[in-house]
Amino acid sequence: MALGYDDLVAALRNLHDLKGALALLHWDQETQLPAGASAGRARQIGALAAVVHERETTPRFLDLVDDLAANLDHLEPPQQVDVRETKWRLDRKRRLDGALVRERAALKSEAHAVWVRARRDDDFALLAPYLARLVTIERRVAAAIDSGRAPYDVLLEGFERGATTAILDETLRKLRDGLIPLIARLQRRLADHPLDTTALGGHFAAEDQRRFNRAVAGRLGFDFERGRLDESVHPFTTEVGDDVRITTRVSEQDLRYALFSTLHETGHALYELGLDPAARGTPRGTACSMGMHESQSRLWENLVGRSEAFWRWLWPLAAKAFPALQGRSVAAALLAANEARPSLIRTEADELTYNLHIILRFELEQALLAGDLGIDDLPTAWRAKMRHYLGVEPLTDREGVLQDVHWAEGLFGYFPTYSLGNLYAAQLYDAAGRDLGPLDDAFARGDFSPLLDWLRRQVHVHGQTFQAPELVARATGAAPSAEPLLAHLRRKLEWLEAMASD
Ligand code: ZN
Repeated sequence: MALGYDDLVAALRNLHDLKGALALLHWDQETQLPAGASAGRARQIGALAAVVHERETTPRFLDLVDDLAANLDHLEPPQQVDVRETKWRLDRKRRLDGALVRERAALKSEAHAVWVRARRDDDFALLAPYLARLVTIERRVAAAIDSGRAPYDVLLEGFERGATTAILDETLRKLRDGLIPLIARLQRRLADHPLDTTALGGHFAAEDQRRFNRAVAGRLGFDFERGRLDESVHPFTTEVGDDVRITTRVSEQDLRYALFSTLHETGHALYELGLDPAARGTPRGTACSMGMHESQSRLWENLVGRSEAFWRWLWPLAAKAFPALQGRSVAAALLAANEARPSLIRTEADELTYNLHIILRFELEQALLAGDLGIDDLPTAWRAKMRHYLGVEPLTDREGVLQDVHWAEGLFGYFPTYSLGNLYAAQLYDAAGRDLGPLDDAFARGDFSPLLDWLRRQVHVHGQTFQAPELVARATGAAPSAEPLLAHLRRKLEWLEAMASD
């Protein structure tokens, strides 16, 4: 039996190495590749992805996983985790027949190209028939995987194992109902007392910012012996075997772009770097879920990176690195770091308003999958919810329902992982504070190691041993809840209000 398990680990590690090579091709494409080489790169990625798919679906590999799963009692608990999670993932794949997979892939790539044009021309009608077909095919996919459950639940689980619509309905509704009045209050206050949030604007040479961001990531715990920081249009994190690569984006007019992208991606990277190296390539050596991954990025970006203590440490370094900051105060910088106001575009939304953008999408996509909302009614429903939740309404669909690529790629059930990340982050951060005592003094000295060590012990090292809700409960003593995040955002709003009345 143990032999079979060793074979499984060897096969998973082989797949992991191939996927690392794929990740490297993607990383190179986003950061280095000359524009004229993109066709060749697409071929290379396609060829290698086909090898991965082949090896993952050989009868020998599938039989091995099935055999182990049928004899789970003979394995140690950690080995059971690897078998259970591998089988779960493979079963989802296996239930989709080849024709459905091909039809879905073709539709997605066609719809993606149409979305680019629809957004450019602000033409929802162009995309609508594709969205309708995507909803239909995702329903078929969900039915093939598990016809006994609501399609949305099945799709959601593909992105966030352990999450259910019932958990989301409960937590996200609480978050929504708590946030709507807060945002309305913020809007009224800012209308009467606008805040000056320009302290991190000016002109800052890209080279100086690169050096500064490297120093910040390093201080947080990012290991440059096992990682790189580069630049790309859309910042991302990717694991390439033994190293983790992050990217940021630089604006010479505003320090916030690079800084907060770096903090966010560093959070993702610290998670990857904190996984158990002895479990490399297996589920136990793989991040728990997308929501949990996002919790690590949001924790460093928002809860640490927008805190007063963090800025007490950062400000003297920033002032030294950027002469343009001379004469400005740390208080003004903190205000700029925490700028908040309702806006139309999700990716540019601030900490206070971000989750309402997600909840809106969660409610609409659920209704689409359930057949309660027709595609043609989607733009109107979008505008109505924006007005209700955020008090702003897009004049164009480009700034509304066409802004995100997700639905055009058939990704239904993906959006909630962003809000789960924020929710987990706040709950974990509270628990770390309870376990370790106040973290502010350490942050103000630039010492982030107590928090990082806590996260490694409580979250990173467990990989997929527990599903996200259980991991949160074990680390914090309570099931996932909206309350810690709401409490944090309420404090933030009160602080902003106090600043706006000065
Ligand atoms: Zn992220």
